[in-house]
Amino acid sequence: MRADAPDAIVVGSGPNGLAAAITLARGGRSVVVYESHPTIGGGIRSAELTLPGFVHDICSAVQGTSTASPFFRGLDLERFGLELIDPPAPLAHPLDGGRAAVLERSAVDTAAGLGADGAAYSRLMGPLVRDADKVMDLVLAPIFRIPRHPLAAARFGLPALRSAVGLAGGRFRGEEARALLTGVSAHSMLRLDRPLTASFGLVLAITAHAYGWPVVRGGTQHLADALAAEFQSLGGEIVTDHPVTSLAELPAARAILFDTTPRALAAIAGDRLPDGYRRRLEGFRYGPGIVKLDWALSAPIPWQAEGAARAGTVHVGGTMDEIQVAEEDVSRGRHPERPFVIVVQQSRFDPTRAPEGGHTGWAYCHVPSGSTFDMTQRIEAQVERFAPGFRDTILARSVRLPADMEAYNPNYVGGDINGGIQDLRQLFTRPVARLDPYSTPTRGIYLCSSSTPPGGGVHGMCGVWAARSALRREFNSRG
Ligand SMILES: Cc1cc2nc3c(=O)[nH]c(=O)nc-3n(C[C@H](O)[C@H](O)[C@H](O)COP(=O)(O)OP(=O)(O)OC[C@H]3O[C@@H](n4cnc5c(N)ncnc54)[C@H](O)[C@@H]3O)c2cc1C
Repeated sequence: MRADAPDAIVVGSGPNGLAAAITLARGGRSVVVYESHPTIGGGIRSAELTLPGFVHDICSAVQGTSTASPFFRGLDLERFGLELIDPPAPLAHPLDGGRAAVLERSAVDTAAGLGADGAAYSRLMGPLVRDADKVMDLVLAPIFRIPRHPLAAARFGLPALRSAVGLAGGRFRGEEARALLTGVSAHSMLRLDRPLTASFGLVLAITAHAYGWPVVRGGTQHLADALAAEFQSLGGEIVTDHPVTSLAELPAARAILFDTTPRALAAIAGDRLPDGYRRRLEGFRYGPGIVKLDWALSAPIPWQAEGAARAGTVHVGGTMDEIQVAEEDVSRGRHPERPFVIVVQQSRFDPTRAPEGGHTGWAYCHVPSGSTFDMTQRIEAQVERFAPGFRDTILARSVRLPADMEAYNPNYVGGDINGGIQDLRQLFTRPVARLDPYSTPTRGIYLCSSSTPPGGGVHGMCGVWAARSALRREFNSRG
């Protein structure tokens, strides 16, 4: 451990921890990051999980929110070797009979593929995509800020407040467009007849059209490594293999920022926090879990629909009604017979992911929190349904149930990958109802993980806002 105390400490090196560390270092502060794993990155790591030479993204695979994030867009990570690869189409959503809705880079081209729903798609998405920077400024901001672009906020807010099936069923007539919008909304991990679930789908569709959904050449780990290089170029220090279990283990610092769950913050710093605040942290609610599969394959996934072969991400779950049933099952504590599966096929566009001729596949589906039920058969049956012959291409697989996810990263409580349920109530109270949700009532202690606004995803903005709060409160300076 270093002899002199740094100005600030960050506990955890996920994208929000690294974004906080970079923001503090840019503000002229000396910063040390402590990470419990031997490697850095949290949800942006990759590794050979199946066979030698097959590189899998352990958690995040698609950089849709990072390409939209003002934090990432303000960095030049290419100088540290980062290379993003944009598949020809961000997303495809196959349906029975060899059909697929394809979300193309351009909203106009997407509409052209949606037949009679094309005009309605253009009316919904066109203005939002034109306003993409303004909408992202709104949704990636701390929750209690007066919108800087009220017109764009209203244009986005009206449809976004609706439920996913309400918006998709109300605006569209055909199965393709309905399934497409419901599928992107299902990333919310909520029941899709609940208000505000449409907002997740709209935001993700906007990011796909306006910024793209690239994958990282060579694996998402390179994104973590590039962030670490940026931080170290600013004088920052990273200590790996160092789980923090108590504040007493850390050198004195004016600000300590936790890239952890509220539960972990309460456990580690609880004796320094007021009882009432600690109890509210302990009452923070976590969402459903996931079952994650990674495949080493002998061939690309043999989709029936041509459009699915062009897409980086493929939403496998069938029609709007089927997806709604699957997600409702999960919210009621059941395991869907036909789960909604998110598939990413990095090796189709990034040959470095697998040895010559080989391919990788990445997939997960939602399950009740803490589930111990192995969904492998059901996930693979869903992929086989739209890609006959898929099972024959599997050379090896890695399976992670919610408990494996949590053992791998304690931030995934019960397998929840969003740092806490993002329903209407908790969206505005992450981690508790507080004007500055990043600060705590105890001077010098902050939360900077996805359990703060704006929530899950690789955008780094939770870290940025937390660091700015610390710079303002502890160092009387701006980030
Ligand atoms: C399977 C999966 C797929 C996903 N897909 C996508 C995707 O495609 N696109 C996308 O944008 N997002 C995706 N996400 C979500 C995204 O990865 C997370 O929202 C994001 O990583 C959250 O960042 P964070 O910095 O808040 O926390 P994390 O990334 O979870 O990082 C927290 C870090 O803190 C460390 N830590 C925790 N406690 C301690 C402690 N006590 N001491 C020291 N270190 C500690 C952990 O080891 C970890 O490294 C996915 C997540 C998963 C799991």
